Amino acid sequence: MTPEEFRSAGHQLIDWIADYRTDLDRGPVLATTEPGQVSQAFPSIPPTEVRTMSEVIADVERSVVPGLTQVQHPMHFGWFPSNASLASVLGDMASSGLGGLGISWESCPALTEVEEVVCDWMRQLTGLSEHWSGTIQDTASTACLVALLSARERATGHSQSAGGLAAVDHPPVVYTTDQAHSSVRKAALLAGYGADNLRSVPVDPDTYAMDPAALQRAIEADLADNRQPAAVVVSIGTTGVTAFDPLADIVAVAAEHAVWVHVDAAMAGTAMLLPECRHLWTGVEQADSLTWNPHKWMGTILDTSLYYVRDVEHLVRVMSTNPSYLRSDSDGEVTQYRDWGLPLGRRFRALKLWFHLELDGIEAIRERIRRDLENARWLAEQIEAAPEWRVLAPVRLQTICVRHVPRLAGAELAGEELDRHTLAWVGSINRSGAAYLTPSILDGRWMVRVSIGVEGTERSHVEELWSIMRSAAAGDVVGSR
Ligand SMILES: *Cc1c(COP(=O)(O)O)cnc(C)c1O
Repeated sequence: MTPEEFRSAGHQLIDWIADYRTDLDRGPVLATTEPGQVSQAFPSIPPTEVRTMSEVIADVERSVVPGLTQVQHPMHFGWFPSNASLASVLGDMASSGLGGLGISWESCPALTEVEEVVCDWMRQLTGLSEHWSGTIQDTASTACLVALLSARERATGHSQSAGGLAAVDHPPVVYTTDQAHSSVRKAALLAGYGADNLRSVPVDPDTYAMDPAALQRAIEADLADNRQPAAVVVSIGTTGVTAFDPLADIVAVAAEHAVWVHVDAAMAGTAMLLPECRHLWTGVEQADSLTWNPHKWMGTILDTSLYYVRDVEHLVRVMSTNPSYLRSDSDGEVTQYRDWGLPLGRRFRALKLWFHLELDGIEAIRERIRRDLENARWLAEQIEAAPEWRVLAPVRLQTICVRHVPRLAGAELAGEELDRHTLAWVGSINRSGAAYLTPSILDGRWMVRVSIGVEGTERSHVEELWSIMRSAAAGDVVGSR
């Protein structure tokens, strides 16, 4: 494709995307395709003939769009807000269009330096001190793996440069809670700690946040058992109920035993753009590493996960390999991001964040987040005031965990019957396409998470959702879209 052909096809595509985004609230939220339906629309052998952009766009509409669960839909209240702001889409296009290669500072100095600048802006915008240095990882999952590798190496005196974990006398141990994201367990296993050295520290039964006294006891028990407490992964906003582990208490316990503290604020980090929310991560300055995802609620499209550390030298010592073909005269003067994480090659991801900040503006982003917090408070109030409805955990940000508990013949529905009722009403909403909510298990019973925060979700959508929820729980058929 020549640049001139690109110009014409590109305009067509941009027009199509703009139309698609304008009209996306007309379709169902949850994809209605059956398993295999999307792939069956494609020929089983690779294309041999060249086609036009119009033909390809027509195919996207016909074969791809029906298979999209529309998380940009204003009635999407599932999982978490996965906003894809169009300003950041343009940044992503610029990144692809420039076609840079990030394997070293030399291979694209701008790629490295804009990333440094943008990570530092984001540090300032979230009120973090100058002691933090940042990079962009693909996801919080990768960031957690990097953190646990760094913790492992610190706890074992750099075992990787000798006999590795196999030669260690005191196995390193990781602490978190059963409310932590599944990526924490995955990272601990991949980093070689082993399931026997992953502790699930008890949580407060009302807030679902880590009990720091229990952490202290677990660390002491492991020390007595000849193990090496290595890392605690602190959830600042858990996946299920957005619980905040008490970071200030945890860093105090960790400091006593030189345990690495990794802060997983993947979802809730966006709230730290608001000064009034920063009390939720008090103690963060004493942590060792920290990650959050602008690609969730803030809305810089995937994959934009910020990873900050206090000790860059340690990170580089763990991650660096420095083969001869990548060495250069500027080593020592410049940042080599390949030594800050797993991959060698990196995209120019910083452009997504930069364009997002420049074109949408931080104050508009902050206003939207405040709007979402207000909407969540409003819905929580409605639910709490309604008979037979329960809010199951403190509403700290924009996620509300609910159950509808009807009374039948004077007795409250409970146990498996309650589970069946919950899955029935949420299932009827999700199947209707009118809205999407995520069913999830809390304390062994099904509940429903309402996660507010799609860019296009206004109060009127939340009001509509509340009305749909009440109808569905009463057994009425939900009108489809
Ligand atoms: C979403 C989430 C993750 C995983 O994020 P990815 O970037 O998809 O890996 C991890 N932890 C928490 C608390 C999350 O909300």
